[in-house]
Amino acid sequence: MSWLILYRGSLSSCNYGCDYCPFAKTKNTRAELAKDAQELEQFVAWVKSRKEKIGILFTPWGEGLIRKYYQAAMTELSHLPNVTKVTIQTNLTCSTKWMEQVNKEKFALWTTFHPTQTSIEKFAHKCQELDHLNIKYSAGFVAFKEDISILEALRQAINPAVYVWANAYKRIPNYYTKEEIERIEQVDPLFRYNTQYHASLGESCRAGNTTFSVDGDGNMTRCHFIKESIGNIYESDLSQVLKPTPCTNATCGCHIGYVHLDKLNLAATYENSILERIPKEEFWRKTN
Ligand code: SF4
Ligand code: SF4
Repeated sequence: MSWLILYRGSLSSCNYGCDYCPFAKTKNTRAELAKDAQELEQFVAWVKSRKEKIGILFTPWGEGLIRKYYQAAMTELSHLPNVTKVTIQTNLTCSTKWMEQVNKEKFALWTTFHPTQTSIEKFAHKCQELDHLNIKYSAGFVAFKEDISILEALRQAINPAVYVWANAYKRIPNYYTKEEIERIEQVDPLFRYNTQYHASLGESCRAGNTTFSVDGDGNMTRCHFIKESIGNIYESDLSQVLKPTPCTNATCGCHIGYVHLDKLNLAATYENSILERIPKEEFWRKTN
């Protein structure tokens, strides 16, 4: 049995100040951070106790990797025999020195560049540190129309062997022209998947069966987008909880959700790097 787990604990703070984000320049109290650390420790112990093969994507509200306890937890998880992958969404502002200790076969990063918060040069410099450490990662950001040239510059600035993804701004229908989509596809050939809310009601999705979301208290939902509780990893018999169930939402528009939608067949595109968003080379490098 193999599971892919999205973990989001009670952390809710960030060192960056993106103006659209509720966590911009927010701080947790010492007590809140201690609670988050304790939750994470309990989660790591649970993973250690399981027989299943487990891949983990941390999707914190805010920035986790500036916290030493996230660094320690990820390092430990990367060395566990039943862990297939440990990865996190990060703005890459943390130091990289600690990554010397991770198991590089199983550790990877989903990095996001924030054009309003740092420069391409600084971000590319951090990417070079990852390259020197042999850490696998993807990099990208939300490609607003006015930022397409920044996306192209990011592509030029970092290692050509690293996949650069672009998220689509979807709140305004038909926001992009055909030409803009084609231009973005020169950087990210998989961009078109992200421009849509995929019809998902009644569709077969691995969320709730082989992949699920967990919060700091162990409460499970099938994915981040359907809030109905399906159990608790510390209390439930997961063999009773996890089963194939059709999606109950009308659409699924976020990469961390629709990659599990069977009809899109994206498991074949990403294989065992689905959590850190690194497609197999044949799906993106040929056009670069
Ligand atoms: S880096 Fe991410 S979490 Fe932090 S303020 Fe920006 S969007 Fe929010
Ligand atoms: S299609 Fe999206 S919303 Fe529906 S169950 Fe899967 S991940 Fe959740």
